[in-house]
Amino acid sequence: MRFFFPDSQDQVDPSFDFKTEQRSIYRVRQRDDRYAHELIQPPPYDGLLVSKPIVDGLPGSSGKYTGAQRNRLYREGAHRFFRLANGSSTLPVMGDCGAFTYVREHEPLYTVDEVIDFYDGCQFDIGIAPDHVVFGYDAALDKAPPQDVPEDWRFRQQLTVSLASDLLAAHRNRKCTFEPVAVAHGWSPESYAVSVQQLQEIGYRRIALGGMVPLKTPDILDSLKAVRRVLTPGTELHLLGVTRTAHVQEFARYGVTSFDSTSPFMQAFKDDKDNYYALDRTYVAIRVPQVDGNTKLRSMITAGAVDQQKARRLERTCLERLRKFDNERCTASDVIDAVCSYSALLGDTKDRSAVYAETLEARPWSSCTCQVCATIGVEVIIFRGADRNRRRGFHNLAVFASRLSRDLNAAPALNTGATRA
Ligand SMILES: [Zn+2]
Repeated sequence: MRFFFPDSQDQVDPSFDFKTEQRSIYRVRQRDDRYAHELIQPPPYDGLLVSKPIVDGLPGSSGKYTGAQRNRLYREGAHRFFRLANGSSTLPVMGDCGAFTYVREHEPLYTVDEVIDFYDGCQFDIGIAPDHVVFGYDAALDKAPPQDVPEDWRFRQQLTVSLASDLLAAHRNRKCTFEPVAVAHGWSPESYAVSVQQLQEIGYRRIALGGMVPLKTPDILDSLKAVRRVLTPGTELHLLGVTRTAHVQEFARYGVTSFDSTSPFMQAFKDDKDNYYALDRTYVAIRVPQVDGNTKLRSMITAGAVDQQKARRLERTCLERLRKFDNERCTASDVIDAVCSYSALLGDTKDRSAVYAETLEARPWSSCTCQVCATIGVEVIIFRGADRNRRRGFHNLAVFASRLSRDLNAAPALNTGATRA
C-alpha cells in the first residue's frame, strides 16, 4: 500500500530560530527550505502527487508556484526539483489534474495534450488522465431505471472515460514513458464498477477511484466490493483523497494498492481540534497567535479594540510559560491561565482549557521520536505561524506512516502481500 502526499510547496525553513523568531539572512527559500521527505527519515510517504492547477494554474489564473519555480520544475524535472533521490532509491511522482478545482465547470479546463505536456515536461513517473467529478452519491439508483440518474452525472462519467481513452491514444502516439492511470467516477457501487470495467477494456491496468472524499466508509466499501467483482487480475486501484487507515487492510483486499491525502498535514493547522497526531489519538495544539503578522489582530489593534502592549506582554508570557512547563518549572494551569487570558484579549470566546490540559498533561512531544519533536520539542505543539504549524504537519505525516504500517500489519491474511517496510 503506497501513500502519495499531494505537494503544495509547504516547506519549512531550517534556519528559523524559535526563540527569536528570526531567520538566516542568507536563506534562499528554494535552495534551503526543506520538504517533509528531507526532514523526516525514512520519508513519511511513498511518493508525491503534483496537481496541474497548483503548478500551472487554471486558464486565466496562476497556480501556487511562482513563475521561476514553475520554470525550474519543467527544466530540472520533478525528481531533481523535489530532491527526491534518497540514497539508492527515489520516490515516484504522480501527476493529476486537480479535478476539484474545476468541478463547477461544464467540462475539464485542460486538453489531453496539455495534460501530457505537464506530465512529460515535469518527468513524472505516473500520470492520471483528466477527469470530471460526479458530485453526488445515491446507492438506491442501482435499483432504479437508468433515466433516474441525473443527466449531468452520466455526462461526467462518460466524459471521464472518453478522456481516458484519448489520453491512452495520445500516450502511444507521443511515445510517453509515464505510467498512465485512468479515473473511474460513479454515483453508486454498480456505476463505479461499470466505469472500471470500461477503463479496463480500453487498456488501463491502474485505475483511480475519484469523488470518494465526501463518502461514508460503508459506501466506499460497498463500491469497492462492486468494483472487485469486475476487476481483472493485475489491475490495481488508487483511492483519490481517501485516508481511513483503520480500513486499509480491507481496502487492500479489494485491490487498492495506493491512495493519497493531505489531511494528516492539513489537520495540524486547519482542524479545530485534531492538530497533533499520536498513534491512537490526536491532541489540540495550543494557540498562541502572533501579535505581528496576524491580520485580524492587527486590524483590532488599529481599531483600538486591543491594546498592543498588553497583547505583546501576554503573548510573551504564553511562550515563556510553555517553555517553562516543558522544563517542569511551572504547572499546566499556569500555561492555561496565560493562554486563556491572551485568547480572551483577542476576542476568542471558545473555552479550550480542558482540552489544553489534556495536551499539556500528556506531553506527547516529549515521547515522540520523530525528527521534528526530537529537534524542536514543545514548540511543535504551539499553533503559531507556518514554521511551527508545518513542522507539526510533518510530525503528523510521520505518525500517519506509523499508523498505516501498524494497521496494515495488524492481522495476517493480507492477500496483496504489500506492506510498508
Ligand atoms: Zn513528532
